[in-house]
Amino acid sequence: MTSYAIRTFGCQMNKHDSERIAGLLESVGLTPAGVLEEADVIVFNTCCVRETADDRLLGQVSSLKAIKTGGRPDVLIAVGGCIGQRDGAALLREVPHVDVVFGTHNIDELPALLRAAALGRPAIHVLDEGEAFASDLPSVREKPWHAWVPITVGCDNHCAYCVVPRVRGAERSREFENVVTEVSSLVADGVVEVTLLGQNVNSYGRDRYGEPRFSDLLRAVAATGVRRVRFATSHPKDLSDQTIRALAEVPALMPYLHLPIQHGSDRILAAMNRGYTRDEYLSRVTRLREAVPGIALSTDIIVGFPGETDEDFDATLHVVRDVAFDHAFTFIYSPREGTPAAAMTDSVPRALAQERFDRLAQLVRELSFASNEREIGAVRACLIEGSSKRDESVLSARTPENRLVHVPVDSPDAACALAGTVADIRITGAHPWFLTGELAGRPVSES
Ligand code: SF4
Repeated sequence: MTSYAIRTFGCQMNKHDSERIAGLLESVGLTPAGVLEEADVIVFNTCCVRETADDRLLGQVSSLKAIKTGGRPDVLIAVGGCIGQRDGAALLREVPHVDVVFGTHNIDELPALLRAAALGRPAIHVLDEGEAFASDLPSVREKPWHAWVPITVGCDNHCAYCVVPRVRGAERSREFENVVTEVSSLVADGVVEVTLLGQNVNSYGRDRYGEPRFSDLLRAVAATGVRRVRFATSHPKDLSDQTIRALAEVPALMPYLHLPIQHGSDRILAAMNRGYTRDEYLSRVTRLREAVPGIALSTDIIVGFPGETDEDFDATLHVVRDVAFDHAFTFIYSPREGTPAAAMTDSVPRALAQERFDRLAQLVRELSFASNEREIGAVRACLIEGSSKRDESVLSARTPENRLVHVPVDSPDAACALAGTVADIRITGAHPWFLTGELAGRPVSES
């Protein structure tokens, strides 16, 4: 075994875990392969939150069978993450050429499992619970200037449609000082922006300290001197006034919040077990916007949850218009095995759910475009991420509000040279999903 490749599905927590998997594999001497199919070890870090991710994994793992039967039988294929956690050895019924299965709680065991598999020994191990946070493992960061920092794992909320509590377990908070120490060392290592991660970040600390300490943690993280702090995901019922105050008072906290509403009908929100009503959500948004004028808001919305009527769906359209989200991630409901919603019988016909989804997607597009148009003429201090994936002579950057900006530059080298710096960009154009702009001066230092 000399080279590895990792394919990551799903959320930011999985991206973070993949950076740790890369760190672990490099710590035992493996190097990244240029092309996945040429690697000696291929790791799939999986997601089972949505049906499409489940299907994509099985398709991609199945297609690798040809590598092993076509002259490279020693290639090791490992499946970890949520699907590994959920299915364990049962995964081999569908993809028997997989060599290693590990779960969300034992990433640290991967090198040992690979060694066992290379010797032809059983290499399937999943733990019901974990002790250590993956942050304590070595890491290879995808972007040197950005770091994912988990502050909680698991979730105690039990939304009716969600498998996360089953595959990630009960909510556990990392020790306060441990988080702050990690961010301090990341700053010393040149990190400009951190994203604090958890399934429900704003209940951080409840299990460990008896009450949420999220706003205290935000202030302590900002006090390390890190220039930009983001966090995800926030649950509307746990968005406290203390957290809103911290967003208003601490300059390093970026003026952007992802606050999943999921639906606009109180009846469906109750069936989803979300723990808030539409009016309670709206009142938090009002308090947030009063405290942080100009804050950008994004959300998640599910269409076609069991029992959703035309009236319920109209309530979703209304709330999306009322809030005027800057962006929304929209999904058609798909049942996940073992969840309460999967046992609900009043499902919405697929064609009807698709028709509702298309109407919602059109509204989201219009609102997103309108929000971006309002930015034209503004100058924003943007974190430059490097060349755009589609065009190397275009630089990609993020405004404080998390809007993507494309800026033409002289050469790919110019984009690379600026990557990881913060620069003023004047916004010159708007599209539904991104802005265009021009560099408005030299790189800036933020207060
Ligand atoms: S808050 Fe709900 S949707 Fe989010 S992870 Fe927890 S159970 Fe799943």
